[in-house]
Amino acid sequence: MKQNLLDLNYEDLKSFLNLKVGVEEKKLNMRAQQIFNAVYQKGLKNFSNLTTIPLELRQKLEKTISFNDTKIVKSYVSKDGTQKFLVELSDGNKVECVYIPEKTRGTICVSSQVGCSLTCTFCRSGTQKLVKNLSASEIIGQIILVKNKLRDWSDQKIVSNIVFMGQGEPLINLKNLKKSIQILKDKNGLNYGNKKITVSTSGIANKIPEAADEIGTYLALSLHAPNDKLREEIMPINKKFNIQNLIRQLKYYTSVVKEPIFLEYVMLKGINDSEECAKQLVKLMAQFPSKVNLIEFNRWPGVKFEPTERKDIEKFSKYIQDKGFMSFIRRSRGDDVLAACGQLRTESQKRKNT
Ligand code: SAH
Repeated sequence: MKQNLLDLNYEDLKSFLNLKVGVEEKKLNMRAQQIFNAVYQKGLKNFSNLTTIPLELRQKLEKTISFNDTKIVKSYVSKDGTQKFLVELSDGNKVECVYIPEKTRGTICVSSQVGCSLTCTFCRSGTQKLVKNLSASEIIGQIILVKNKLRDWSDQKIVSNIVFMGQGEPLINLKNLKKSIQILKDKNGLNYGNKKITVSTSGIANKIPEAADEIGTYLALSLHAPNDKLREEIMPINKKFNIQNLIRQLKYYTSVVKEPIFLEYVMLKGINDSEECAKQLVKLMAQFPSKVNLIEFNRWPGVKFEPTERKDIEKFSKYIQDKGFMSFIRRSRGDDVLAACGQLRTESQKRKNT
């Protein structure tokens, strides 16, 4: 079996070149750099065009290393320009990722798992059972595919931001998440800064310290309810990690990363949008550096929740701002093609062992 290049961070590639390909010690940096640059900054898809490397070595590399093995099997374009891609993995499983163009930036929303184990009641992704964690190459593969699609291989990046807000819970797949972020952040790799990447979590509290120490990007917390009783009802994960436990870890995150936490709060009509909820939310926000993004609820077939009306979202937001905290209203994108927050889902199922 060949080694998939997209599963290797820079240091892994160096040791692979050394141990498996026989590249001598003093040339390791140069070779790793040539390969990373070509693949992640110029979009190289095989070694035959990498003519800066001697032919003999190229042939060895071709025999031992494979490239992106994911492919786009379907694309959807929303009226607002958002594009959703159905990506097939080499094992036949499928995930979705989304490209969201905006005036001053372009964001890719990537998936971290096939399916999801969390069963948040308002989220369509949560209706698909967890199939598996994505490998680093399956995460990076989504980004490479979208960059290919957009011909985004020049210095002026079209895809300027990456958010881990697709299917799955990134912190449950922390090992592969970390590797993919190392490749994303590597100067010779995809070269995204900490502030261009956001990891969103439903609140896997015990993984947050490791994420603080070893990831260091922006962190978003899907809060969605300001007290344990309500949060447990709509997000079962709260039974395992309650709000105070989360806040303890988030304080640590902000002390290491020195950036506020983005709280995500989907506005569900008659559920979490009262003034009392806003009041409780402000009390939580006072405990650690944070900003809140109020998210319009995106409907999906079969869901029982209704979105809060715009004027009521504005009222909620103003209440928070008047207390001196930062609150933004996030516009929904791509919901006509089920590409918006919480709408991603594929047909992939866990195969039974027979
Ligand atoms: N599991 C991670 C990553 C998913 S991010 C997490 O929970 O953070 C996707 C975001 O969209 C989360 O904040 C999620 O709670 C939110 N979301 C889920 N369903 C939604 C819906 N129907 N409308 C709007 N936002 C939704």
